[in-house]
Amino acid sequence: MRKAQSNLDAYLKESEQIDRIEDVEEENSSLREELEQTKGKLQELHAKVREAETKVEIEETEPQRFVNDSDARCMKHKGGHFDASYNTQVVAEKDLHVIMAYSVTNDANDVQQLAPVSKKTLEIAKKNNIKIAKQLGDSGYCNAKQIQELEKLGLDCVVGVPKVFQKEQDIENGVTFEYDKENNVVRCCQGKCLEYFTTKQRRGINYKIFKATNKDCTCCPLRDKCTKSKYGRSVMVSEDHEWKENYRIRMEQPENKRLLRERFGIIENVFGTIKCWAGKCPLLLTTMEKVCSEIALYMNTYNLVRLANLCGYGRKLPNTI
Ligand code: SF4
Repeated sequence: MRKAQSNLDAYLKESEQIDRIEDVEEENSSLREELEQTKGKLQELHAKVREAETKVEIEETEPQRFVNDSDARCMKHKGGHFDASYNTQVVAEKDLHVIMAYSVTNDANDVQQLAPVSKKTLEIAKKNNIKIAKQLGDSGYCNAKQIQELEKLGLDCVVGVPKVFQKEQDIENGVTFEYDKENNVVRCCQGKCLEYFTTKQRRGINYKIFKATNKDCTCCPLRDKCTKSKYGRSVMVSEDHEWKENYRIRMEQPENKRLLRERFGIIENVFGTIKCWAGKCPLLLTTMEKVCSEIALYMNTYNLVRLANLCGYGRKLPNTI
């Protein structure tokens, strides 16, 4: 009887264990299922992110084209609207406000324009035995390689350095970063290392991107002021970062600041005068070749009127130089 009882106990114990194993297996299989579903969703999300990134890259490298003018590009105008446009560069002499050189491109920004138009100006100046001491430009023209190239040719470039909004905000919030070139890392004011992540190109300039780990940022007392990203802070360092910092200090000198202020009055007067004569959107022709000819007419007419006025001939046009 006792043996039968112990056999029964052992049987019950074993069946209880089997039940527990079955329960765990069932739970495991439902977890596995859940995991597979999450993996699938994650893959879908990754594919969407890749698709969006490719789209952005294509949009950045291949700007929008227009059916009626394949050379024009979509550019942003004052007031924030976009339109089919060309980009005209003008170099004017500081005292006489005479146009020395100009060029027409379909680049949506000016970051690659300083060197070509300045070299053209140097050539014209050389032919006419004119000495050019300085070339002025706003921060849209700030391109380390081109400024260095022009300074090697003996042209002193006074070009504004763009302000980095994020950097200013960081300083305001008491967050600072230092780039350690030797080890290729960025260190934040909390002593944490932001490791190199990738390199991206923007407006023809390479930027290294460094990322902090989420673990470091989560327990940081400055997190709320530093980043809103749930993946931790990332920082961009341009390839010309060191040069730009030195150049920024040079441009902060009072004489250079004064020249940059003066530049506005010189060049905007030329553009303002032409727009005053011809209207805000003066282009009547399409495609690069014809647009270049049309712009040449505007520039040459401006110079002729300007010279006539300087020499005291003819009737001065209203609202002009
Ligand atoms: S949030 Fe991250 S990157 Fe920013 S200061 Fe703190 S640790 Fe450094």
